[in-house]
Amino acid sequence: MDPLAIDRTHLWHPYTSIAAPQPVHRVREAEGIWLTLDDGTRMIDAMSSWWCAAHGHRHPRLVAALEAQLHSLPHVMFGGLTHDAAIGLAARLVALLPPGLDRIFCCDSGSVSVEVALKMAVQAQHARGARGRSRFATVRGGYHGDTWSAMSLCDPVTGMHGHFGAALAVQHFTPAPPVAFGADWPEDPAENGLGAVAALFEEKGPEIAGFILEPVVQGAGGMRFYHPAFLRGLRALCDRHGVILIFDEIATGFGRTGRMFAMEHAGVTPDILCLGKALTGGMMSLAVTVASTALAAEISAGDPGVLMHGPTFMANPLACAAACASLDLLAEADWQGAVARIGAQLADELAPARDLPGVADVRTLGAIGVIEMRAPLDSARVHGFCRKAGVWLRPFGRLLYTMPPFVTGPEDVSRITAAMVAIAREAT
Ligand SMILES: *Cc1c(COP(=O)(O)O)cnc(C)c1O
Repeated sequence: MDPLAIDRTHLWHPYTSIAAPQPVHRVREAEGIWLTLDDGTRMIDAMSSWWCAAHGHRHPRLVAALEAQLHSLPHVMFGGLTHDAAIGLAARLVALLPPGLDRIFCCDSGSVSVEVALKMAVQAQHARGARGRSRFATVRGGYHGDTWSAMSLCDPVTGMHGHFGAALAVQHFTPAPPVAFGADWPEDPAENGLGAVAALFEEKGPEIAGFILEPVVQGAGGMRFYHPAFLRGLRALCDRHGVILIFDEIATGFGRTGRMFAMEHAGVTPDILCLGKALTGGMMSLAVTVASTALAAEISAGDPGVLMHGPTFMANPLACAAACASLDLLAEADWQGAVARIGAQLADELAPARDLPGVADVRTLGAIGVIEMRAPLDSARVHGFCRKAGVWLRPFGRLLYTMPPFVTGPEDVSRITAAMVAIAREAT
């Protein structure tokens, strides 16, 4: 049987219908920034395979690290046992993170790391005696994953609230941070978005365990870049009202926004941090939930005195080894220079799209470039165009965006921007 027919008949792809499956390209191999398809066609992976492949695909150092790990310890349970891959990962992460954020829980995926973060917050509140704090708050426009609790905190409109209704936990939403990155920061809380958070905390504070949001860059919820001062104000409000602050840096971590972590734009440290996606350089699924020393101590002093989570494949040695090698690559590379160069080029070369009547906005930050259309893009059409253009892009709704691997050279960045502008022009 034709492999693509088997795919069509038996596999689910993300968010697809069995009755009307979207087209798929069959990838034979990947190397560096390139994906090679079944017929030999090559496309630049302008998505870094959903923010992951920051060093490009199949980097020899990552392959070597995985091979070495494969031949010594591919997996072992993490209950009662430990191993050097996890220990090496913890040491490397703690060296990168701000002081005080240093207790690492390894998870299978980003969504799971968000679930663990929420559990940590509830357990810490219980330890404080605040058993009534069982809900969470967030800003609109966010994305935190597809598992139940994560989903309940995604933007209610671009997320899946409408499809799951009463099955979802009810959470509190404040408006998306209204001041754009790079704009002037108005001190008036009614204008800068902090007034709405203060009002929510005044009214509902005693039932709120934690506030979760993506620092500076809202990813899959709308690709918005907001002013870092919002995070400073939010930190102060959380402290005043006993609310635990959780940053979801699953998409933004490891250099993508021009800083190692997006929170560094604000100089704010959360109580809990989620990391994933580029953590393993795109080789394996792995995420971590990092708790502050203080929060971890609170959880451990409370009842039941232990953090209540422990997945089967926790701290899988292959994934941890890939993450160690990926962090070493980052440490050795001039990623700041690469992100600055790619960012400047994205800003220059996407700017002409601003003049197209179908384009609502063009924005860039770090090595992220976004063209926001006025109407949703025809994704099947873009899909076909990508193969011809040799650039892999995957728009959602009105958003056409790229976050290329840091190793993408100037000519290849130009191919990406040319494809994006062509798609925007054609859809206009
Ligand atoms: C992708 C993403 C998640 C979910 O991670 P998965 O590994 O897909 O479960 C959560 N939060 C943010 C900000 C993300 O970009």
